[in-house]
Amino acid sequence: MSRAYTAAVDTCTLSARGLSRVQAGHPWIFAVDVARAPTPEADVVLVADPRGRVVGTALYGGPRAPLALRMLARGPTPVALDRALLADRLAAALARRAVSFGARDAYRVVHGEADALPGLFVDRYGDAVVLQSATRAMDGREELIADVLLEVVPGARRVAVRDDSSVRDLEGLERRRGMLRGAERGSRATYHEGLTEIEVDLLEDGKTGGYLDQVDNHVRAGELACGEALDCFSYHGGFALALARRASHVIACDQNPAAVGRARANAARNRLTNLECVVDNAFDLLRRFDGEDGRGFDTIVIDPPAFAKRKGAIEAAERAYLELNLRALRLLRPGGLLVSCSCSAKMTPERFGAMLERAARDARRQVQVLERRGAGADHPGLLGVPETEYLKCWLLRVL
Ligand code: SAH
Repeated sequence: MSRAYTAAVDTCTLSARGLSRVQAGHPWIFAVDVARAPTPEADVVLVADPRGRVVGTALYGGPRAPLALRMLARGPTPVALDRALLADRLAAALARRAVSFGARDAYRVVHGEADALPGLFVDRYGDAVVLQSATRAMDGREELIADVLLEVVPGARRVAVRDDSSVRDLEGLERRRGMLRGAERGSRATYHEGLTEIEVDLLEDGKTGGYLDQVDNHVRAGELACGEALDCFSYHGGFALALARRASHVIACDQNPAAVGRARANAARNRLTNLECVVDNAFDLLRRFDGEDGRGFDTIVIDPPAFAKRKGAIEAAERAYLELNLRALRLLRPGGLLVSCSCSAKMTPERFGAMLERAARDARRQVQVLERRGAGADHPGLLGVPETEYLKCWLLRVL
C-alpha cells in the first residue's frame, strides 16, 4: 500500500567542511561533517549551513551511519521523497538509457546518486526488475518503488528485492531478499548479452543476478578473442561465452560450484561446445598452468572479486592482482590478448596501471594498451566522485 509522504521538516546542520562538500556538488556528507544531527528517526531531512540557512534536502542514514546524508535536492525548497518524485526520476533515468539500451533486454535502470536517486539501484533482466536499497529512506519506500517500476519499465511484470549486500550493515539495515511483485512467475530470468542468452536466478545468484556492468566488456572481449582462451573468475561465463564464439577452446574457472553449473548450462543453452567449465581456485590453476612445460594461451581474462574492499587491504590486494596478471602475461603467446579487470574503487586507475606495468616488467613482456574501459554507460560515474568509477577493464596485447 502506498503512503503519502510529507516534505522533510527535520533539519540537519552541517559543519563548514560539510557545507563546502555540498557546494562542491558532492552527493555524500559523512557523519564527521555534521554539526547538529536531526532526530534519530528522521529519514528525509532539510540540510542547513552552519548559520541555519537551508541549502538542500537529503536522505538521513540515522545516528549510526558513517555516511550520514545523501543529497536528494539542492536549494532552499523542501523536497519530499514521494511517489511523484520517484516516478519523475525513474522515468528520467529510463529516458536517459533509451537511446543506447532501448533495444536491450537487460541493463541497469537506476545507478544511485548518478541518477539522482541516492542509495537506490535497479537492474532489469527481461520482464523482471531487481531493486537494491542502501539506505533506510529507500527501504521504507520499496513497495511504492515497485509499483512505479511496474508502470514505467517497459515489459516489467516482476519485481525482486536484493537487500542483502554487506554495505547495508554500515547503516544497521537488515539483510533480506524476495519477490515483491509477480512471485508466481518465479525468480529465474533470461536475458541477452549480444548474441548470447544467459539465465540468472534473481534471488539465489550474486549481486542482482548478473554483472551487468561488464556486459559491454564481455562483448568487446569476444570481438578480439582468438585461439585458446582462459577465463579466470568466470561466474556465469559472461566473458567465456563471448570468447567461445571466436576462440577455438575456452577454459572457464570459478571456485563457486553453483556459478560453474550456471556457466555450463549457459554454454549448452547457446550450443557452444568448445567451453570447458571447471571448479577451481584461479590462483592455483594459473600457478599450475604456469608450471607446465609448453602450456600457453592466446586470450586470458582476469576478473577477480573486489579484493580491496576494506581500508588497509590495498597492499594485499595489489599483491594478489600482481600475481594473477604476472602469471597471465607469462602464459600468453605472442600476440595474445589480456583482459584485466578490477572492480575495487580503492584500486585507482593509476594504481591499477602501475601494477600492470610491474607485472609486464617482471614477466619481461612488452605490452600494448588497446583500450582502457570501465563500466557500461548504464552505470555512470559522477564527475568529482572518484569512488563511483570503480571498474577497470583494460584490453592489452602482448608482443
Ligand atoms: N567475470 C564475471 C564476474 C566475476 S565475479 C563476469 O564478468 O560476469 C568474481 C567471481 O570470482 C565470483 O564468481 C567468485 O565466485 C569467483 N571467485 C572468487 N575468488 C575466487 C578464486 N580464488 N578462484 C576462482 N574464483 C573465485
